[in-house]
Amino acid sequence: MIEIRGLVKRYGAVTALDGVDLQLRAGEMLVVLGPSGAGKSTLLRAINRLVPFEAGSVSVDGTAVAAEGAALRSVRRRIGMIFQDHNLVPRLTVLKNVLTGRLGSLPLLPSLAQVFSQRDIDIAMQCLARVELQGRAWDRADRLSGGQQQRVGIARALAQQPAAILADEPVASLDPKTARIVLGDLRRAAHELGIAVLCNLHQVPYAREFADRVVGMHAGRIVFEGPREALDAQALARIYPGLALEAALA
Ligand code: ADP
Repeated sequence: MIEIRGLVKRYGAVTALDGVDLQLRAGEMLVVLGPSGAGKSTLLRAINRLVPFEAGSVSVDGTAVAAEGAALRSVRRRIGMIFQDHNLVPRLTVLKNVLTGRLGSLPLLPSLAQVFSQRDIDIAMQCLARVELQGRAWDRADRLSGGQQQRVGIARALAQQPAAILADEPVASLDPKTARIVLGDLRRAAHELGIAVLCNLHQVPYAREFADRVVGMHAGRIVFEGPREALDAQALARIYPGLALEAALA
């Protein structure tokens, strides 16, 4: 449903994406693995043109993603983004943070006044229930732990009722127990809601535990693609050349 073809992105002399072809599928948790600098973050941001690219195309349900304007905004509404540092508004309640996920689908005036309908509030509460935080709806966002804030970020993305969620190193700053909860939330969003989830990670064990499909990147290219069971020593050597296996597995 999201089709990426021949994507090339350069930063000066650095080729961050060197001809990437990839499909994101509804209902699938796709994990992109790779060492730092492999191009994972650039790939994720190129999908909804947060970074412009030199060549190639991205299409959603067969329609090429426009470079600007209303057509691009409408694609962005269908794609939820999750970053390492969740970007919540600390002084707002958890519920209001989740409701901001609804802003893109409101007509302009209510969106400016931030007047949310009961339907929006119901959707936001359902999304909070999906990450088991409905009981915290009225707390200020900055009262929650880092892991809980990341899960509010997931609820906010879900409130967009997106076709896809793109998550860039969403568990980088979380302890293993919390990281597993967050990755479990993302996988459930894929499986239960039919969302195409793309998740950049640098931890191989999490990919082995949570991915339906794994893509390995190195130096701007896809060097491995397969189910998590295929992520063997040979695959890891392609993704992390020169790196001791124990380090990749850490
Ligand atoms: P990853 O997410 O796998 O760590 P990135 O997509 O962040 O990789 O980076 C890919 C390459 O592009 C790296 O060589 C990085 O230094 C370079 N790069 C990324 N963003 C920029 C930028 N804004 N300006 C210049 N170079 C960049």
